[in-house]
Amino acid sequence: MHKFITGLVLSASLLGGCTQNPVTGQSEFSLVSAQQEVAIGEQNYQPSVQAQGGRYVVDPELTIYVNSLGQKLAAVSDRPKLPYEFLVLNNDIPNAWALPGGKIAINRGLLRHLEDESQLAAVLAHEIVHAAARHSANQMTQGALLGLGTQVIDQTSKDSEYAELIALGTGLSAAAWQARYGRQHELDSDRYGMEYMVRAGYDPQGAVELQQTFVELSKGRHQDFLSGLFASHPPSQERVEANRAHASRLSGSLRNQPAFARATAQLRKDKEAYELHQQATKALADKSVDKALSLTEQAIKKQPRENQFWETKAHIHVLKKQADAALRAYDQAISLYPEYFSPYLGRGAIYQAKGDYRAAKADLLASQRWLDTPVANYLLGQVSLELGERTEALRYFQTAASASGEIGQAAQAELQKVGVAQAP
Ligand SMILES: [Zn+2]
Repeated sequence: MHKFITGLVLSASLLGGCTQNPVTGQSEFSLVSAQQEVAIGEQNYQPSVQAQGGRYVVDPELTIYVNSLGQKLAAVSDRPKLPYEFLVLNNDIPNAWALPGGKIAINRGLLRHLEDESQLAAVLAHEIVHAAARHSANQMTQGALLGLGTQVIDQTSKDSEYAELIALGTGLSAAAWQARYGRQHELDSDRYGMEYMVRAGYDPQGAVELQQTFVELSKGRHQDFLSGLFASHPPSQERVEANRAHASRLSGSLRNQPAFARATAQLRKDKEAYELHQQATKALADKSVDKALSLTEQAIKKQPRENQFWETKAHIHVLKKQADAALRAYDQAISLYPEYFSPYLGRGAIYQAKGDYRAAKADLLASQRWLDTPVANYLLGQVSLELGERTEALRYFQTAASASGEIGQAAQAELQKVGVAQAP
């Protein structure tokens, strides 16, 4: 009995312990240590960025601006020593997220709805609280205690036909970091976020206006808008009022509208180009391929440095069975943003179809280096077979076979075929 209790205490102290929350000061039990938090964040950072559109590379100055504002707020937070990093994602959906440990992203699609620096500070400070107050660690601990497991990331691409998988990068359908915080976490993030804003000199009204904007955005919008930001940050008049009441007790005046306007000038200049591209994506979904091509080419004319536009153009040429035009467009997408998985995947598939298996393998491996997807493993399996690399092919198919959906099933079928061929 004594031994049993000792064992229990020992494993509890190994697993976690009671600590004081760095933001609220309340004591809480956590199974996730501060070092583990940072490690989980690091591990999920790159895949989350890749799966959600990659970095916004048309104007890298914008990320520099967002990061410097974020660092200013993090420095006055309750956990200034976390390895914070702030970046802008090339994604139309109005969204923002924080990984445990302080890696924080804001989508291009949310920035365009903001009006000044105090509103941006409200977004970033809110996310800083999620990281500083260990909200994810808290969710993970609760999940583990309830026996729910701690699935932090769901990287499995959704069931989809092959052509759509190639367009994964433009479709942005892969789920990555999807923390679901509770109501209390959201209220805490609003509240303490406003404290951080004020400590850095900002007008807390920015947080009130931000919530108001979210309420407006959530009205009558497409499901996309609800699946992004609002899945984890439900907007409500209740939160607007809570923020208003809290703001009235705080004082800060900084709005920095001109600096914000300068930093986001390119984004506003390209508004029409992104709208044309969204129309093109919609036309593609409606199978109006020629209309989609014309809209995409108009978008490219307005902003030729947007890698996503070139990738959409490549995808359309694939659908039109114009392999050479598709290759040229993928080349362009890759040269504009070489650290992005998706166009390599598309180009590799074309090389494979053309029978150039060496070039196909090089591209599929490049794609995998940035984001390891089931479809890349599946195609690598096929290409390896063509190159006579049977053992490698088996390994790729095995990896792909663990995925759900069509790709997983196709990989299992390939595994059986290779296995049968190998049997004497
Ligand atoms: Zn939140």
